[in-house]
Amino acid sequence: MTVAPFDFIIIGGGTAGCVLANRLSADGRHRVLLLEAGPRDRSPWIHLPIGYGKTMFHKTLNWGFFTEPEPTMNDRRIYWPRGRTLGGSSSINGLIYVRGQAEDYDQWAAVGNAGWSWKDVLPYFIRSEHNTKGAGPAHGADGPLWCSDIEHRHELIEAIIAGAGELGIRHTTDFNTGDQEGVGYYQLFTRKGWRCSTAVAYLRPAWSRRNLRVETGAQSTGLILEGRRAVGVRYRQNGRMRETRATTEVILAAGALQSPQLLMLSGIGPEAELARHGIAVTHALPGVGANLQDHLQIRLMYRVAKPITTNDDLRTLFGKARIGLRWLLTRSGPLAVGINQGGLFTRVMPGPGTPDVQFHFATLSADMAGGAPHPWSGCTFSVCQLRPESRGTVTLRSADPFAAPVMRANYLATEADRRCTVEGIKFARRLAATSPLRTLLTEVKPGREIEGDEALLDFARGTGATIFHPSGTCKMGSDPMAVTDARLRVHGIGGLRVVDCSIMPTLVSGNTSAPVVMIAEKASDMILADARAGASSIVATDPVATERSRHAALAPEGSPA
Ligand SMILES: Cc1cc2nc3c(=O)[nH]c(=O)nc-3n(C[C@H](O)[C@H](O)[C@H](O)COP(=O)(O)OP(=O)(O)OC[C@H]3O[C@@H](n4cnc5c(N)ncnc54)[C@H](O)[C@@H]3O)c2cc1C
Repeated sequence: MTVAPFDFIIIGGGTAGCVLANRLSADGRHRVLLLEAGPRDRSPWIHLPIGYGKTMFHKTLNWGFFTEPEPTMNDRRIYWPRGRTLGGSSSINGLIYVRGQAEDYDQWAAVGNAGWSWKDVLPYFIRSEHNTKGAGPAHGADGPLWCSDIEHRHELIEAIIAGAGELGIRHTTDFNTGDQEGVGYYQLFTRKGWRCSTAVAYLRPAWSRRNLRVETGAQSTGLILEGRRAVGVRYRQNGRMRETRATTEVILAAGALQSPQLLMLSGIGPEAELARHGIAVTHALPGVGANLQDHLQIRLMYRVAKPITTNDDLRTLFGKARIGLRWLLTRSGPLAVGINQGGLFTRVMPGPGTPDVQFHFATLSADMAGGAPHPWSGCTFSVCQLRPESRGTVTLRSADPFAAPVMRANYLATEADRRCTVEGIKFARRLAATSPLRTLLTEVKPGREIEGDEALLDFARGTGATIFHPSGTCKMGSDPMAVTDARLRVHGIGGLRVVDCSIMPTLVSGNTSAPVVMIAEKASDMILADARAGASSIVATDPVATERSRHAALAPEGSPA
C-alpha cells in the first residue's frame, strides 16, 4: 500500500524525532510524516518520574536489547534498554539534565565539523529550554523543554556535598554552563513533578497541525532509494507493509543502534557486512555501525545508618502512601525526582585537564539500575569515566529488519579506560570516608575485602553496566569512517540525513539527552535552510571516494591505487 508523499519523513519518534517533527512543521509550509515503531506514550509510568523502575524492563515501551557476551566484562551480556514509544528514550530515561563540557563541542569542531563548537551550539541549548533558573547567558526560559531544579534538600545529598568539600570539590548549582566541575543537585527534565519528554515538550504542542502526521506502531524496514538518492521509506504497521515517498528528505532519527541498522538494511554500510547478509551494496560506507561509544557505570553500594533513603520510603505501605500523598499535594518528594538526585564531576587522573569522571548519587540501592530496591536503608554511588577510548560496533544479526542489531560495546578495552575507572572507584571510597559520610555509610559493594587496583578492576568487569549512552555509530566528519557531513547529510547519498545520538563523533562528557535535543534543534535549522535553498538534494561529498582518489593521485605510477 502506498501513502501519499510528504516533504519530510522522519524515521523514529524519539528524543530527536519529536524535536524535528515540531520544528519542521512549524511554519505550515512542509508536509511532515513522523514514523514511530512503538505505541503512543499513554502509560502513566512514563510520566511519573519514579516510573523509571517500571519502564526499565517494560515489554512494549522498551526495546530491551542485550549486547553480545562482552569478553572484557567476564563474557556478560549487558542489558541495553532503549525507549520504544513517542519520546523514545527521553520517555524512559533518568531525567538528568547535563549538556557536557564546552571542550567536547570544541573538539567536534576542531576535527573538521564546522558550526559545532560550544559557541555555535550554546544558542540551541538555550532555545530548547524552559529552565526554572530563568533566562541568563547560559540558559533559556522560553523554550519547550522544562529543566527544573530539585527543590527539596535531601540529608544524604547534603552530606555528600559537605564530604566532597573536604576533598576540595566545590559546590555548584549549575552543571550546564560549559564548565561542569563540582558537586551538587542535578536539574531534571520535569515540569511541575511530571516527566517532560520531548514528546510532551515538542510533539504535543504540534499534534493538531494539519501538515504533521504521526504514525505509531509503524516500524520502518528500510529506505527506498533511486540511484544514490533516498526517496521514501518502507514500514510495517498493523501487520501490513506500506510505502511512502519524501519529495525533499528522509531523516533517520532511530537512535544509535537502529539508525545504522536501517542504513545497512538499505544497502548503505560496510561492504563485507552487507555481503555477509546477502544485502546488495548501494553505497559502501565503512563507518556505518563503527565508532560505538558508551559510558560504563560502576555502582558502589552502601548501607545508610538512618532510614532516610528511598528504599525506606518504598518498603512499607505507609511509606508509599506518605510519598504518594506528598506528590499529590505538592508535586515533590521521591515520586517527582526519580532515582539520581546528586552529581559530581571531577578529575581523577594525574595532570591538568577537565573532569574525567561523573558520579550519580542515588538515594536508593538495588542489585541493578532500575531494579527492586533492597529491603534495607541503602544508597548508590555510580561512577563513570567520561571520555572512554574503547570503541565497539553495531552490526546486523541478519537481513531481517525485525531482528535486533548486534551490539558489542568493548568496554575497558584500553589501559587508559581501565586506569580511569579504577581511580574513579578509589575516589568514591575517599568520598565515603570523609567526616560527614563515614558514620552514615557502610560499604556493601565492592566490600572492604576488595582491595588493590587489580581487585577493583575485577569488580568493574564483573558488575559494570551501561549508563545508557550508546552513541557515535553514524559519526559526522570528513574522514573515511565518517557517515554524515557537518550538516548531517549522509555522505554519498542525496535526500538523506541522520539526526540522533549516532552522529556524535566523540561521546560528550555527560548524559546524552540534552545534547540530542540540541543536535535536533540545530539540524532542523539546517534542514529548513537547505530546503529553502533547494540544497537538500545535493549529494554530500563521499569521503571514501575522495580518500581513494587522493591515494590514487599520490600513488607512484604502477602501484595499486
Ligand atoms: C534507561 C535510560 C536512562 C537514561 N538516562 C538518561 C538521563 O538521565 N539523562 C540523559 O541525558 N540521558 C539519559 N539517557 C540517554 C538518552 O535518553 C539518550 O541518549 C537519548 O534519548 C537518545 O536519543 P535518540 O533520539 O538518539 O534516540 P531515542 O530517543 O532512543 O529515539 C529513537 C526512536 O526511534 C524509534 N525507532 C527505532 N527503530 C525504528 C524503526 N525501524 N522504525 C520506526 N521507529 C524506530 C524508537 O522506538 C525510538 O522512539 C538514558 C537512556 C536510557 C535508555
